[in-house]
Amino acid sequence: VRATSEAEPLRAYAPSMGQIFLRRFQLVTQFRSALETGQVSIHYQPKVALPSRQVVGAEALVRWKHPEFGRVDPDEFVPAVEATGLVDVLTDFVMDKALDRVRRWIDRGLRMSIAVNLSVRTLADEEFPDRVAAALLKHAVPPELLTFELTESGVMADPERALPVLRRLHTMGVVLAVDDFGTGYSSLAYLRQLPVDEVKIDKSFVLGMGTDLGDMAVVRSIVELGHSLSLTVVAEGVEDDAARDQLVSMGCDVAQGYLISRPLSEERFEAWLRARTVQVRGARDETVLTL
Ligand code: C2E
Ligand code: MG
Ligand code: MG
Ligand code: MG
Repeated sequence: VRATSEAEPLRAYAPSMGQIFLRRFQLVTQFRSALETGQVSIHYQPKVALPSRQVVGAEALVRWKHPEFGRVDPDEFVPAVEATGLVDVLTDFVMDKALDRVRRWIDRGLRMSIAVNLSVRTLADEEFPDRVAAALLKHAVPPELLTFELTESGVMADPERALPVLRRLHTMGVVLAVDDFGTGYSSLAYLRQLPVDEVKIDKSFVLGMGTDLGDMAVVRSIVELGHSLSLTVVAEGVEDDAARDQLVSMGCDVAQGYLISRPLSEERFEAWLRARTVQVRGARDETVLTL
């Protein structure tokens, strides 16, 4: 429908093409050792059901604390890494950490799912479903507690190769979500052909909903479309009560955003969870989470 517009941060000076190229080159060549030396970590952002506010899971978002550049955003280094063969290493790293987390939650009686973002390259890798099966087995996590988020453009880049991979993942019982929905160019009819279970409304529409009637209309129609295709509808970028209330009135199923929590380090996310856990008397398996 339209492209996401992220505001550019103010800069004292604009870096030259040479500087941009050099930095990108450094990020790509240093990525593997960054993984090995603990510079790369996963942050977790909760997803809550509407209107109950029960915590249903979290999205795993990668973070890189670079010794020279400081914090490097995934929007910068993921595309750079993606252009090389290294993105598999990233995906496997995130999946392994994420499933280890889910296993720990299960051991405490918490049934929460984890969402991992997939890049275009991974969708074209016919061996990926085997690695997913091995990772689920290794951590003894049931497939329905793992969600993969893929973008429309990721699927549309090479549907011939992506579709068989998606079908295999879906057959295994893994949950598939279309991320940033509404920003791509694929037709809504195409969504029907994809083996997906969930749509995530792009945050640009959710953020604009309070001030822009057009954004409001887009959000409403994605909720309706999603439900008419029996999909779970998730809104990202929920920053205030007004947006949450609007989404509840539209019947949106799940909310994610700064209103609920920013993405948190593993330790801080666990503390956040503990503060919201209500143990149901005598039923270890029925731990209830509320905001
Ligand atoms: P995404 O998957 O659409 O993730 C949502 C982004 O929105 C995250 O940015 C998150 O921090 C941000 N966000 C969450 N709630 C709010 C809110 O209420 N307001 C606003 N303004 N923003 C919010 P982040 O962490 O910088 O990640 C950016 C993108 O990088 C992700 O977009 C995803 O496409 C990609 N990414 C992150 N981790 C991975 C990964 O492990 N693998 C791959 N392939 N891509 C990743
Ligand atoms: Mg995502
Ligand atoms: Mg998104
Ligand atoms: Mg995004």
